[in-house]
Amino acid sequence: MTETLLSVRDLVKTFPGRRGRTGRPGAPIRAVDGVSFDVGTGETLGLVGESGCGKSTTGRMIVRLLDPTSGTVTFGGTEIGGLSQAQLRPHRKHLQMVFQDPYSSLNPRQTVARIISEPLLVQGSSAADARKRAGELMELVGLIPEHIDRYPHEFSGGQAQRIGIARSLATSPKLVIADEPVSALDVSIQAQVVNLMERLQQELGLAYVFIAHDLSVVKRVCDRVAVMYLGRIVEIGDKSEVYGNPAHPYTRALLSAVPLPDPAAERARERIVLLGDPPSPANPPSGCSFHPRCPKAQEVCRTERPLLQITGAGSRQAACHFPEA
Ligand code: SF4
Repeated sequence: MTETLLSVRDLVKTFPGRRGRTGRPGAPIRAVDGVSFDVGTGETLGLVGESGCGKSTTGRMIVRLLDPTSGTVTFGGTEIGGLSQAQLRPHRKHLQMVFQDPYSSLNPRQTVARIISEPLLVQGSSAADARKRAGELMELVGLIPEHIDRYPHEFSGGQAQRIGIARSLATSPKLVIADEPVSALDVSIQAQVVNLMERLQQELGLAYVFIAHDLSVVKRVCDRVAVMYLGRIVEIGDKSEVYGNPAHPYTRALLSAVPLPDPAAERARERIVLLGDPPSPANPPSGCSFHPRCPKAQEVCRTERPLLQITGAGSRQAACHFPEA
């Protein structure tokens, strides 16, 4: 890995439980349960898992749209997890976010000029400078700068996501948290936006935390990948290790569902079907939280939580008593 840019340690987010019919609050929901990882300069870390596994909550805590319940977020050598919003401002320009739904993340009553300029105005740029930069950013992301005074509804979904990406780049960030940036787009448009993000990374030296449930998209863009299940990382390592020889049964199951380009290989491979839905984070299973769905579960899995530890010859880590690799 290159020089460490972001370091997340033991990150936890607990939400209050919903009130039941009696009016009593339910058990607290531990959406993120002790997540740790690093991201290097110019690197892409893929954060994958089923819906509700805590990956988006993790991304939102990194940019401080949500405050962590505990744990640390160190960015560029500064622990930003406990900073006030005013203290955070000088760091925020280097740390931006792209959201899943481009339309709902863009203010429909603002022009593109205003939307892209906003982070610059917050950082103290003049209106004229911010507008000029907005035009340059539109060109950078493949939009027509003459459309700068149009509104979001006048753009297609792919174009709207380009506006969101342009806004995220306005303050020349070092790291962008991309939360399912292509999952709301048509498949044909997804490839264009992924190409754009890859080109911008090369040109600008950006690092990404790329959050997605689509493992084939993540495989294409990431250098390393972290697989989350029920608020925890169950496997993390270089892309080649995790995709080439997954150690955790959950990773194996997820990868067995990714379509293969070769029809013969697709017919020949074994699909691992997981039983049931993920358990509620308000009432996680004992021991290994994956044990009720795991085809390899044994008695120890029901009582002892496996620690994330190096598995195999490389640096890949997995949290399993009986890893495959
Ligand atoms: Fe499956 Fe046991 Fe490994 Fe958990 S610890 S993933 S239940 S084999």
